[in-house]
Amino acid sequence: MNLGLSEEQAAVQELARDFVAREIAPHVVAWDRAEQVDRSIVRKLGEVGFLGLTIDEEYGGSGGDHLAYCLVTEELGRGDSSVRGIVSVSLGLVTKTIQSWGTEEQKREWLPRLTAGEALGCFGLTEPGTGSDAGNLTTRAVRDGDDYVINGTKMFITNGTWADVAIVFARSTDAPGHKGVSAFLVPTDTPGLTRNTIHGKLGLRGQATAELVLEDVRVPASALLGPEGKGFTVAMSTLAKGRMSVAAGCVGIAQAALDCALEYAGQREQFGKTIAHHQLVQELLADIALDVDAARLLVWRVADLIDRGLPFTVEASKAKLFASEAAVRCANNALQVFGGYGFIDEYPAGKLLRDARVMTLYEGTSQIQKLLIGRDLTGVSAF
Ligand code: FAD
Repeated sequence: MNLGLSEEQAAVQELARDFVAREIAPHVVAWDRAEQVDRSIVRKLGEVGFLGLTIDEEYGGSGGDHLAYCLVTEELGRGDSSVRGIVSVSLGLVTKTIQSWGTEEQKREWLPRLTAGEALGCFGLTEPGTGSDAGNLTTRAVRDGDDYVINGTKMFITNGTWADVAIVFARSTDAPGHKGVSAFLVPTDTPGLTRNTIHGKLGLRGQATAELVLEDVRVPASALLGPEGKGFTVAMSTLAKGRMSVAAGCVGIAQAALDCALEYAGQREQFGKTIAHHQLVQELLADIALDVDAARLLVWRVADLIDRGLPFTVEASKAKLFASEAAVRCANNALQVFGGYGFIDEYPAGKLLRDARVMTLYEGTSQIQKLLIGRDLTGVSAF
């Protein structure tokens, strides 16, 4: 097994590091305090090619492999999880889903703009009443002549305020459970669609997260993404790869925690020597370093499986579960290394912890990942 990077992968990793240093790092604290990253970052992400990494070249992407995608996601997560999330959702949950499930017309309409960062995508699955139990969603799409009319509310939608197109999951047939769910491509300027930005988030404060309210939103039948009634399959196949991306972002948080804790431990002096000399501080650093390595290896395994066309869904759940819990541990340990200064937002550890916390919640909570892994182990569904 070769755990090294190819020349192309190393080059894309370097590109991402350079991008973060130039375009993200100088603004991280200000964006977090302002509760908004500068929107021009979307265009810049498109120009550097990060919004089309795994998309075919004929649609404006660079046709890169999934390990390259993970490397970029890790670096963005190391820089700012809010920016990382913009890419994970627009590329991973929207652009990639249109490439996998869309008609040629849908691909030609959206992919070049999405990969260029001229348009942004969001993914509308969660509702106020259905989160983990997404298959029971209640948003309704009713066929009316050549159109569908959609009514419902979507909650916690990343990129929601800014997005130009939303993948909206709605119940379009009377089949019970998730069998009646379909996916629709809904331009966000469609009459009847309103967005309410969600403020006061614990972390990912720079990210535009919104509630989407759909009132008699009329879309043509050609807006159907994938076959009617197969929307839940569309959602689950998308989220399996999405979990790899979240996990890679968590490795970035964990690595950033190690970077800042190490640097601080080498500078801060207590009891006449730098705190790096104290054994219990070294224990904190060693625990972080171990989590970083273990999480990264799990993520790379998923990318490798995908790139070799092998089954990866359960491995993606394991990587997401471990990496998200590890990111919380690492950020918390880093904060401890900083002592009281860790509690102040001029120092990075607190933001890492706030940003890490949501990773155990979205794209399937830690409990849901455990149920997916448990089902695979036992053959018994405990949902
Ligand atoms: P619930 O499902 O109500 O869960 C509450 C608790 O019960 C959790 O601890 C959960 O693990 C537990 N639980 C539930 N069912 C079980 C069970 N069967 N067994 C054991 N425990 C269980 N959604 C989107 O569609 N698109 C987005 O872009 C998006 N972005 C998000 C961004 C942010 C910042 C946040 C906070 C959320 C986002 N979400 C998004 C929603 C996210 O995916 C949901 O919050 C998540 O799936 C959990 O759903 P819930 O919040 O309704 O919690």
